[in-house]
Amino acid sequence: MNFIETRGNDGQQPSSITFSQAILSPMSSFGGVYSPESLPTFDEAFFKAHLNSGYKTLAKDVLSAFEVDIDEAVIDDALSLYDEFDDPKNPVPLVKVYDDLYVSELWHGPTRAFKDMALQPFGKVLSSVAQAKNEKFLILAATSGDTGPAALETFKNRDNVQVVCLYPDGGTSDVQRLQMVTEDAKNLKVIGIHGDFDDAQSALKSLLISDKFAEALKAHDISLSAANSVNFGRIIFQTIYHIYSYIELVRIGAIEMGEKVYLNVPSGNFGNALGGYYAYKMGLPVKQIHIASNNNNVLTKFISTGHYDLRNVSVIPTTSPAMDILKSSNIERILFDMFGAARTKELMLQLDTEKFYSLNEDELAQIQAIFAADFCSDEEGLTYIKKAFEAGYLMCPHTATCFKTYHFCREDKSVKTIAYSTAEWTKFSTVIAKALTGEEIEHDKEALELIAKKANVQIPTQISDLFNKEIAQKIVIDKQDIEKEILSFLNE
Ligand SMILES: *Cc1c(COP(=O)(O)O)cnc(C)c1O
Repeated sequence: MNFIETRGNDGQQPSSITFSQAILSPMSSFGGVYSPESLPTFDEAFFKAHLNSGYKTLAKDVLSAFEVDIDEAVIDDALSLYDEFDDPKNPVPLVKVYDDLYVSELWHGPTRAFKDMALQPFGKVLSSVAQAKNEKFLILAATSGDTGPAALETFKNRDNVQVVCLYPDGGTSDVQRLQMVTEDAKNLKVIGIHGDFDDAQSALKSLLISDKFAEALKAHDISLSAANSVNFGRIIFQTIYHIYSYIELVRIGAIEMGEKVYLNVPSGNFGNALGGYYAYKMGLPVKQIHIASNNNNVLTKFISTGHYDLRNVSVIPTTSPAMDILKSSNIERILFDMFGAARTKELMLQLDTEKFYSLNEDELAQIQAIFAADFCSDEEGLTYIKKAFEAGYLMCPHTATCFKTYHFCREDKSVKTIAYSTAEWTKFSTVIAKALTGEEIEHDKEALELIAKKANVQIPTQISDLFNKEIAQKIVIDKQDIEKEILSFLNE
């Protein structure tokens, strides 16, 4: 299957490319992204056949329906990384919280957040494709917390790929920072920046337009790639767990095969929700997809009114920082799928120039036929965390936003919900400690111990070990020194 451009073709870029090309060079004409030319479809027989097949077999069959141009041995190796999850037989457990609410836990991988679901296999695939082409790639990432650790973990010691990860010093949780600065591998560089996430991100952007930097890359024969959530190589792996969780719900007898469900997704860049949308388009019985946001509620307004409006808004820091996003990159693929390239180009260019676009009535109706949305304030989140804990479920603040949508978006109360949990409690422990005890705790270590005791759970070794590991990445610099630092890393 080939991939085509969401904003149409400019005559310079290839207008249709393969999967491996799309993951190596994800950017396309007019600032668009690549999307599948068409989607495979799955019927009930397919879902039935996978009732007991396990995650990897399902994943392999989904990837093969997309006809990806990746060697079977590479796919097998990539999928075998799910064997390192807590339970290799069931890497994505489904937990019943209420009679009609099941939580699909996407964080049982090495960095304890859902980014591993896609980045673990993606890292293996990208490195293999780069090796096969005998090309070298550099991945630059600015992170506020979860993408950085997952990207470093997946590319650690992999051939033909180097990763530089910038984080705001003091702007991440202790656990997130330790996950990055304790990564010790020759192909990884982690750099703390004096400043906030925006400083890290803008430093990265100015690097991308620097001639000196471009020359240095050329001299080293290195191309830039990207591991961010617009890369279809990540999205493809995010269609699988939606299908898997549905099948699990059937397997445990909570629904009949063919019965429709609500998917309920804590959203930032909309990669997770897009995976759910594609699963629905491919035939998964989905009644509606509920989009949960925090106080950065651009998506709630968009889905409720058809106005995507970035005028006079700026990012509000919240207790669910992985969702502190205003411009959800993957909305573009929804527009493209529903309205085509010409309209997508028009809307996205308007967003770039005027920071605003509006859908017409018909378009909005199409969006609302499959999506509904709500947002959850930090205070509401604390209450949901506490309530869920009292019902026996310990969850992170991102997951908590789904409880708002669960309460307010379901029109048909007889339909069961699959909500997605995107991080383990260990990654946002100070927030959870506050929800459970009312106490403000500054450091993760103390909060982790307090929750472990109160909830009678173990801190997983992936987290507890971090506090004893050696700090391998010690550099914290001003943003004007970033270019020099990265160039010296490339020269090593
Ligand atoms: C990345 C992330 C999200 C948002 O996912 P998108 O695919 O960007 O919408 C939500 N929660 C956590 C914990 C994350 O790391």
